Amino acid sequence: MNILLMGPPGAGKGTQAEKIVEKYGIPHISTGDMFRAAMKDETELGLVAKSFIDKGELVPDEVTIGIVRERLAKPDCEKGFLLDGFPRTVAQAEALEEILSSLNKTIDFVINIKVDNSVLMGRLTGRRICKNCGATYHLVFNPPTKDGVCDRCEGELYQRADDNEETVENRLSVYTKQTQPLLDFYQEKGYLKELDGQKDINLVFEDIVKLVGGFHA
Ligand SMILES: [Zn+2]
Repeated sequence: MNILLMGPPGAGKGTQAEKIVEKYGIPHISTGDMFRAAMKDETELGLVAKSFIDKGELVPDEVTIGIVRERLAKPDCEKGFLLDGFPRTVAQAEALEEILSSLNKTIDFVINIKVDNSVLMGRLTGRRICKNCGATYHLVFNPPTKDGVCDRCEGELYQRADDNEETVENRLSVYTKQTQPLLDFYQEKGYLKELDGQKDINLVFEDIVKLVGGFHA
């Protein structure tokens, strides 16, 4: 079962990815992990990628695509895989199609977890951190007992600059702009499945299981 998981920041993609990987016993392939592994193993492409990252430059597509190809060809992907964070562009999606067809594989599901921007805003701006001990809270998901005060040390809670409304709004609009062409691409191919990500985490996962449940590779 080959799944590509998509969703905006704050949609709970990481949590769902963990649950999918655990239930179906397929590897979770995120771009970050893949790069780290290639660099650690000092593969040829890993070293090339490292040379760009060390200079603070973006890794070129051909290198990224090569690393994805190497990863998907590994034996642990035989049963399937969960791809997360790649592709990011239509060009990468087209390259992925080529990689998969050369490996005699295909994508079975592109799952997009949909959440309204107003809800994402609440989730992403709700984080509070203790000035004193660094403990993190969330106004909705993990609120402190007393407003603005750390449960552990009674320190003052603050909001990180990255979590303010303006920054979050900007992140979300960049995400939408970059991702819409990709969603259109997969919609045209007939792979795209959209799920309501505003439900409880466990209900979202149930929807995923319902969607892919009857599927056997
Ligand atoms: Zn504290």
